Amino acid sequence: MNLNTLYTKALNKEPLSADEGAFLYRNAPPAELFETAQKLRYSHVPGKRVSWQIDRNINYTNVCISGCLFCNFHCTVSQKEKSYTTSTEEYKVKIAELRALGGDQILLQGGLHPNYDITFYENLFTELKSIDPEIKLNALGPPEVAHIARISRISIEETLERLVKAGLTTLPGAGAEILSDRIRKIISPAKPNTAKWCEVMRAAHKMGLSTTATMVYGHIETIEERMEHLVTIREIQADRPAGAPGFRAFISWPMQMEGTKLAEICAKRDITPVEHLKMIAISRIMLTNIPHIQASWLTVGETIGQMALHCGADDMGSIMIEENVVSSAGASFRMGSEEMQRRIHEAGFEPWLRGQDYSPR
Ligand code: SF4
Repeated sequence: MNLNTLYTKALNKEPLSADEGAFLYRNAPPAELFETAQKLRYSHVPGKRVSWQIDRNINYTNVCISGCLFCNFHCTVSQKEKSYTTSTEEYKVKIAELRALGGDQILLQGGLHPNYDITFYENLFTELKSIDPEIKLNALGPPEVAHIARISRISIEETLERLVKAGLTTLPGAGAEILSDRIRKIISPAKPNTAKWCEVMRAAHKMGLSTTATMVYGHIETIEERMEHLVTIREIQADRPAGAPGFRAFISWPMQMEGTKLAEICAKRDITPVEHLKMIAISRIMLTNIPHIQASWLTVGETIGQMALHCGADDMGSIMIEENVVSSAGASFRMGSEEMQRRIHEAGFEPWLRGQDYSPR
């Protein structure tokens, strides 16, 4: 393999194989990798526009049967002193706070509750829409959808259709971590497997739902497995029906494992800023058919987020009003609307407020 040949292939938006991606990741001088990714960024999103959004993360419950080793957020039904299900009154307060900040979208996520079937989520979405009919629900993720389908004894398709009918607007690409069953068997053995994650996303794309894709790296995976993950995402995107939005964006971040069971079995891997920026760049290069790459500032900090805008990223994601999952495992960054826009300007770009589906606000 030859670096120049791979740069040319990448700039022509020819899909690179996992081996080619791993070769580039390991051998390309970072400056060349960043430059190649940034050229591709401008070909996907011309001009200096950098998108951002205002949404609010709300967790509907922390009860979960999955027991992922990297998760300090979840608990079991029997842990009465720790477990919760968010109440109507709490939703009303949180939605009012979101509205006061100019946002109209909720990122609604939580655990795989053993007793909450499709009816619970239909009622929840209907209730949220009755509190605020204009609120947009970017909710659940493939593991939750697969879990709800399983305990409700209905198909993935029916689950998604009923959730959309109840108010689901877009489907986040949560719970992917690394799409490899070797890894999932170790870090999240009770979570729906790789095939299920992909099946839910393919079904969502067939229905025309706008989704995102994610990756959590920096734990027990190899570089090759990261690249195979990217190829899987690209192939799902390529198979979406003509005109379907599919994955609107890709978001990757380093695993936060402070105080988790994963930290006990996995030597802590300090992801350097350069490694994160290389992941941003290689994602832009590998994902030839996904328009937006997020800078993922929440776990790496605002400054590295700004640098990512020069390494292939074109989106800063949301300001952070509330987050309980990665913050319970070590992430501690926060950013408001003014700071977000200031940071984008400071990095040399124009802030552009967007909706979850990347439409203008
Ligand atoms: S990461 Fe999600 S699925 Fe895994 S244990 Fe935590 S809440 Fe459950």
